[in-house]
Amino acid sequence: RRGPLSGRVAVVTGASSGIGAAVAAALAREGVHVALAARRLEALEAVKRKLVIREGKVIIRQTDVTDKTQVEALLRAANYELGPVDILVSCAGVMYFTMMANAQNEEWEHTVDVNCKGLLHCLSSTVPDMLSRSRGHIVAISSDAGRKVFPGLGVYSASKFFVEATLQSLRLETAGRGLRVTSVQPGNTATDLLGMSTDAEAIKKYGEPSGAKILDPEDVANSIVYALRQPQHVAVNEVLICPNQTS
Ligand code: NDP
Repeated sequence: RRGPLSGRVAVVTGASSGIGAAVAAALAREGVHVALAARRLEALEAVKRKLVIREGKVIIRQTDVTDKTQVEALLRAANYELGPVDILVSCAGVMYFTMMANAQNEEWEHTVDVNCKGLLHCLSSTVPDMLSRSRGHIVAISSDAGRKVFPGLGVYSASKFFVEATLQSLRLETAGRGLRVTSVQPGNTATDLLGMSTDAEAIKKYGEPSGAKILDPEDVANSIVYALRQPQHVAVNEVLICPNQTS
């Protein structure tokens, strides 16, 4: 049976692991044509091999979202091989635990490059075309850290506040023109994201894991499918999704 997303065309960044890989799997199950993007080609191939592909086509494209020309090439490839892009799911992101006082410039700048500039590259490569077709859905993974700051996660939180402000502006300025803009704000989710940091003080400051069950990437992917499946007159603007045992 064909569902509401059958035959749509989606681009998923950060599709080589974690939430992006789970989104790719969920969209393939919905019959969506999907372009999977990330830097690690082998990991993308492994994700593609595991997909249960219904009638949709799947392509993979090595892409570093910090490089605008690579993002533009990804969108050209998706348009050419799959058709006009209806859905962007921006999952590419990095997270370093760092204390403001410890001035981890390299990690800060990389956070801004991927989480902030990377999103802008994705928007500039998709939004104008979606508006010209009066149809499109932008989904970006923000975070609960896009709503409040956490000690040891200052610059990461700032990058997610950037995501929130950017999406709110996009929604405000394009209202009534066929575009939907969804910010997804997950709490702790079991992915590789937590293993990137070098600032031991910040890791400790953030807090030890409580042992409570955290989200699986599939839980977040399900909330994205929910937003995407709504009829055109319904806009799911924000999804705050957290482990049940945290405040
Ligand atoms: P993962 O580390 O599993 O996934 C991150 C993804 O981003 C990978 O596919 C990685 O692929 C990709 N990526 C990183 N840098 C780049 C780049 N320069 N260009 C293209 N792709 C890149 O972690 P998550 O799945 O958890 O992270 C996905 C999103 O979810 C992030 O935006 C994160 O901030 C957000 N999030 C995660 C939470 C969590 O607790 N896990 C909570 C709240 C939000 P590759 O290395 O192959 O490029």
